[in-house]
Amino acid sequence: MINTLNILIYSLFIISISRLSSARTAYKGNLLAITGMTIAVIMGLLCLNSPNQLYAIITLCIGGLIGIIGSKKTSMPQLPQMVALLNGFGGMSSGLIGLSETFNIPHPNLWQIFIIFAGCITFSGSVAGFLKLAGLVKIRETETLHSVSLILFILTLIGGIYAYNGETEYIIGFAILTSLLGFCFILPIGGADMPIIISSLNGLSGWCTTLVGLSIQNSLLIIVGTLIGAGGSILTYIMTKAMNRHLLKVIFTPITPNKETITAHSEQDIHKGTPQDAAFLMENAHKVIIVPGFGMAAAGAQYELGNLAKILIQKYHVDVKFGIHPVAGRMPGHMNVLLAEADISSDLIFGIDEINQEFKTADVVYVIGANDTTNPLAKTKKDSTIYQMPILEVEEAKRILFVKRSLAPGYAGEDNPLFYNEKTLMLLGDAKEITKEIITNLESTNS
Ligand code: NDP
Repeated sequence: MINTLNILIYSLFIISISRLSSARTAYKGNLLAITGMTIAVIMGLLCLNSPNQLYAIITLCIGGLIGIIGSKKTSMPQLPQMVALLNGFGGMSSGLIGLSETFNIPHPNLWQIFIIFAGCITFSGSVAGFLKLAGLVKIRETETLHSVSLILFILTLIGGIYAYNGETEYIIGFAILTSLLGFCFILPIGGADMPIIISSLNGLSGWCTTLVGLSIQNSLLIIVGTLIGAGGSILTYIMTKAMNRHLLKVIFTPITPNKETITAHSEQDIHKGTPQDAAFLMENAHKVIIVPGFGMAAAGAQYELGNLAKILIQKYHVDVKFGIHPVAGRMPGHMNVLLAEADISSDLIFGIDEINQEFKTADVVYVIGANDTTNPLAKTKKDSTIYQMPILEVEEAKRILFVKRSLAPGYAGEDNPLFYNEKTLMLLGDAKEITKEIITNLESTNS
């Protein structure tokens, strides 16, 4: 019976992953995964003896309640930090299981020490990722943190040797040191490298689950952990390609940006435009490319973008395309999820390689809340954290409409020369409001 149920659960998880590959089937994919997880939890509960069953149910209720409240309170723009935190919980669970396993035996084995290490690093690294994504910490003293990490690394190694000897206090001390190490290690990593770190922590949380599964001989944990671990590792590979960075370089030689080279500009240096100007340029264009970024997500402007595309195509017969950079937004696939939510046809959406061929022939490019992913400094500024990252070549278009609220830099902290480009009209304001005003203008004009 248990084996049959296990096979059912594995199948549900595997089918759900295949469904998640397309926005159309993703909802059903999620339902299948929830069903699989519910059966797994019930099975787990039935295998416990009665006092433990009660504790498990109480813990499940508390965790479930926190999860429901957290998901209700989390808005779409806050989703990336929520994902980072959930990765951390995965790591924490593995670390705690590793710890509890060592309490029952006189001497922990190397395997258990490694599970504690990997689980604690994933947990505290993800907490650091959460704080960075939520904008709750801004690190300036990266050099100091690198030295602290080195000291912590040496202490953790020594702690590991002591923990291996089996004293409970040493094992707990080792877990604390490892957690501090993970936190200090991730904190100074450059803004633009965060997609790589987030996806590798996601993979690591899966591999930790696999390790725990191997340790307690639970095939369900082994399979689920491997699915997450493999998914996260593939995503890390995609992100390193998108950033043109090597994972080891991101971790061991993070770029420290030279802030002194960032020139302060004022609004006098830019050409300011209005939504009326933007509507005029768009309605007279043959081809418009829309480039969304984090600001579009923050403003929740995806529905307005959908309307804008519709009106340009249907009323003005404009050729409209969307160009998505793989690291646009704050989590892998961020823009694709939002555009799918607004029912924008995937036929209009193109990845970086395809859309970069199209900018030369575009009359207008509408950059809405994107910044780093369009920044030409990625090609020239060697001490920039986005150096050598492939960008969306929006400067090739005839006119650039740039929507953002100020001249502030993007996530990587770099000024963007496109703001001062002769071809650029800056539309300063909230992405949703500006897009709404452009739509109003387009609607009121006779085609
Ligand atoms: P950026 O973060 O570079 O820029 C977003 C811009 O949006 C900002 O300059 C901001 O300017 C503007 N903005 C913010 N709110 C609004 C609003 N309400 N209305 C209008 N504009 C707004 O975005 P990109 O998407 O181009 O680049 C993503 C960056 O994030 C990359 O550096 C990437 O490496 C990093 N990153 C990506 C992750 C991923 O997995 N995708 C994970 C972690 C980091 P202003 O304040 O002036 O309005």
